[in-house]
Amino acid sequence: MPQSLLHHLLTRLGREGAMTVADFMGEALTHPAAGYYMHGDPFGAPGPVGGDFVTSPEISQMFGELIGIWCVDTWVRLGRPDPCLLVELGPGRGTLMADALRATRQVPGFHAALQVHLVEISPALRERQREALGAHDVTWLDNVGQIPEAPLLVIANEFFDALPVRQFEQTGSDGAGDWAERVVVLADTAKANVGKKDDGKLAFALAAPSPANRALIPAPLRGAAKGAVVEICPAALNIAAFLGHRLARQPGAALIIDYGPAESTPGPTLQALRRHRRHEVLDAPGTADLTAHVDFQSLAQRAVAAGCAAHGPVAPGAFLTALGIEVRAAQLAESAPAAATALTAARRRLTDPAEMGSLFKALALTPRELPPAAGFEPLSPALSSKSEGR
Ligand code: SAH
Repeated sequence: MPQSLLHHLLTRLGREGAMTVADFMGEALTHPAAGYYMHGDPFGAPGPVGGDFVTSPEISQMFGELIGIWCVDTWVRLGRPDPCLLVELGPGRGTLMADALRATRQVPGFHAALQVHLVEISPALRERQREALGAHDVTWLDNVGQIPEAPLLVIANEFFDALPVRQFEQTGSDGAGDWAERVVVLADTAKANVGKKDDGKLAFALAAPSPANRALIPAPLRGAAKGAVVEICPAALNIAAFLGHRLARQPGAALIIDYGPAESTPGPTLQALRRHRRHEVLDAPGTADLTAHVDFQSLAQRAVAAGCAAHGPVAPGAFLTALGIEVRAAQLAESAPAAATALTAARRRLTDPAEMGSLFKALALTPRELPPAAGFEPLSPALSSKSEGR
């Protein structure tokens, strides 16, 4: 129950005084009883019974199907490892995985080699995934650390932007000051009511600046101007390092699709979304989705430092086009002519940067000795000069 999450946070802050923004985000999204993802199904179009946001696999089956094709292509490039883990991080309703598996069922040997693993924290969404993947043998994991040691293909769509971020503010001029962590505290009006009421309020505050914080800030941002806020996502960096280590000693690849700039950029970007509308981050915690932009540069650097290669990030539109979304849309339209207009709209929505925004990106991680995965090859000089000319 959302009210009880606020009550829980007020009580916790009454005891502890302050919590990091990452702690707040973790509680709001994944508190076992009242976290946003734990009790419901947030996906869907706007409307009276609609959800809070729509993700690419929910826009069209083509998204998951083409990611399935990417997995097959990568599996073949890896020498058809058997067994091969197919791991999805944060699978939502299970739509992407269901579409990917359906699109690849006729590939000789692929399904026989696959062991599907889903890393999912929400019992409610695990249930949805079980329904979506009924016919398949699936193993659920609580976290990335539980992924067994084997060749692996990892997919993560809009998973990293749900991982908790810490926020730091530059306190001195000319990038010379110490960084202070932003924290969540009780708003003054709430202090008197601790533990008694659910109508108290939360507020942001700054902890004391500390020289130790500087090491956490991505190097290109350390000189940021006074007042700049930088977000770091320890969970995302740890997962990147984990994947980098794995891909340094096991055949495999990871495909990370999310929202964020290609290069580390100051924020803040933490935002709350409810019924497709912006919501105050600290209001009614547990009732709105919280996301922050993914720092693709730091993610790639951490994975590369751990031993793998990183490719991209590229625009998912270019990636889906390279994988043949136009051909797939035409095939589907041929077998269901009544859906042709909807298919064209869905294809445009998934591939046109004007629709998804320029922050939508795909990053691939592979073993160092492997050439870039499909959709991540550098354009040939002829093609890139052509696209520049348009
Ligand atoms: N990939 C899906 C859903 C994205 S929403 C899609 O594209 O539609 C984020 C997903 O990550 C949800 O399934 C949520 O329950 C899961 N999730 C969020 N935080 C998590 C965590 N810390 N560990 C595991 N799963 C998490």
